[in-house]
Amino acid sequence: MFENLVAAPADPILGLAEIFNADERINKINLSVGIYKDEHMLTPVLACVKKAEAQLLENEQTKSYLPIEGLVTFNTLTQKLILGEDNQLIISGRVKTAQAPGGTGALRIMADFLVKRTKIKRIWVSSPTWPNHQSIFQTAGLEVRDYRYYNAQTHELDFDSLIEDLNHVSAGEAVLFHGCCHNPTGIDPTPEQWQIISDLALKKGWLPVFDLAYQGFGQGLDEDALGVRLFAKNQPELLIASSYSKNFGLYNERVGALTLIAENEDIAECAFSQVRTIIRANYSNPPSHGANVVVNILSNPEMKDEWIDELTTMRQRIHRMRQLFVKTLQEKGAKQDFSFITKQNGMFSFSGLTEEQVFALRNDYGIYIVNSGRLNVAGMTLDNMSLLCESIVKVLS
Ligand code: PMP
Repeated sequence: MFENLVAAPADPILGLAEIFNADERINKINLSVGIYKDEHMLTPVLACVKKAEAQLLENEQTKSYLPIEGLVTFNTLTQKLILGEDNQLIISGRVKTAQAPGGTGALRIMADFLVKRTKIKRIWVSSPTWPNHQSIFQTAGLEVRDYRYYNAQTHELDFDSLIEDLNHVSAGEAVLFHGCCHNPTGIDPTPEQWQIISDLALKKGWLPVFDLAYQGFGQGLDEDALGVRLFAKNQPELLIASSYSKNFGLYNERVGALTLIAENEDIAECAFSQVRTIIRANYSNPPSHGANVVVNILSNPEMKDEWIDELTTMRQRIHRMRQLFVKTLQEKGAKQDFSFITKQNGMFSFSGLTEEQVFALRNDYGIYIVNSGRLNVAGMTLDNMSLLCESIVKVLS
């Protein structure tokens, strides 16, 4: 059965991390995988998470199964974080949430639900997008098409082309948007642009679905949810896959959620019962540790404030590194204008470096960037900035 299988290529992002780990150069710099790093190049457990874990250790009474859709309080707190504390939709019962194993798990439940329980057969994703979107949706059986998103010349959102392409999406198809901090470009639509896209979705009758993996990493918790909230207000139906990997630093605990919004409470309840059947046949019910950590933090005002402070520290460090990166590139003699990097949101930046330049950085200088030129700004520090910029200027000239 197995002998005729052809070996799969390494994952374009995680595979690079393995090569980086094996690289013996002392000054190597990893700007590839999407993990936040502090100024010491570490990804420590947040202090509020440590506290919540200590509480859990003390108070946990059982390891019995969670419900299929996970912890009820986790799901309610997730809705409030995404849609806002007093959102009418939540009060009206139109919103249902299932805890999921990470944002990836949520996206996979979303895809299975669309393929197996609705008539949707095709999903549109931005070009470019996080490469795993294509894999997740295709593996679930959806046909994946892309819409134009990025103008490589101006380093801006190619909004006219985006609208032109979304005009060709048929009723009964799905379109995926990144809620904020678009991965890999770091460029998000403005509120006015979100409004135009939302109006188009209504006019055309396609289903908007969101991937919200970086809430709090762009401009702030509420600011980053602006697009999702605008759609939630306007659309009769919406799906949102969200993740706590980045904003709580809970990467390996696999904490995320799938949120479904329907036209009324009855439809929401009925559709959500189908989401439950998808989960049951997939992994039965989710793990509890990470979700309990999130509950302990978000339901305690003091700990929530502490978390918001830690999240703000992460976000501000990334902003500072963006500014310093552009300034240092200039000081080291870069002729190109890199100021567009300071306008991008979140951890990633689409640097505009070509594949050839990316390979030269990797081979000659031990600097690891994804082949597309996407770099993780959170991998930059005061200590590695000078070497990083010198090396980039060398491969540019
Ligand atoms: N969506 C996007 C755009 C991402 O960048 C990531 C993480 N790299 C995810 C989803 C998945 O996050 P998680 O680790 O929670 O599965």
